[in-house]
Amino acid sequence: MGERILLVEDEEKLARMVELELKYEGYSVEKAADGRRGLELALSGQFDLVLLDIMLPKLSGMEVLRRLRKDSQVPVIMLTARDSVMDKVSGLDSGADDYVTKPFAIEELLARIRAALRGKGNKETAKVPLLSAGEVILDVERHQVSVRGEPVELTKKEFDLLRCLLENKGRVLTREALLDSVWGFDFVGETNSVDVYIRFLRSKLDDAFGIKLIHTVRGVGYVIKEE
Ligand code: CA
Repeated sequence: MGERILLVEDEEKLARMVELELKYEGYSVEKAADGRRGLELALSGQFDLVLLDIMLPKLSGMEVLRRLRKDSQVPVIMLTARDSVMDKVSGLDSGADDYVTKPFAIEELLARIRAALRGKGNKETAKVPLLSAGEVILDVERHQVSVRGEPVELTKKEFDLLRCLLENKGRVLTREALLDSVWGFDFVGETNSVDVYIRFLRSKLDDAFGIKLIHTVRGVGYVIKEE
């Protein structure tokens, strides 16, 4: 039996089309045509994922989500008719895991569903969401870095580089190894990218907080050591 999906959508034709596609993919599907019924079903705890339209009769999708999040962490993908940034932002703020803008290709929706369901599995089984060295903490899941509890803004590359070094704490990583795991094997460009990004990290972490986090091993590479 596949995962159970609740589809809260008042446009009957669209709901039926999505239901058929989901069933074809092996999911089991239940539908609700208004917000109140949707919330009731979503709160029953019997679903692995909720697809939630925003413009709904009786209770808006936003309100359903807001009330649902008080009691449930079930993954929610918002279906929004308007390609409005406001909807997306407030949807994600109020605890939606993702959103799809209508009209959507069914393949896109299916991909988002798989990702959201995977994310749910990860949350339950993740064993090391936190990496740390001294006072530096990197939260893999939330994609956040902090030093002494103070958040530090890193770009994606800086984050990935720091993560790689922390995962290998105490081991010296060569520039080539870092390039491979952070930039990927097909990286074309200057090998000194690693040095450039190490410099960025040092200025945001070592210099900004007066710590010695990233050590250079001459002629070899870099290592993060516990002080
Ligand atoms: Ca609607």
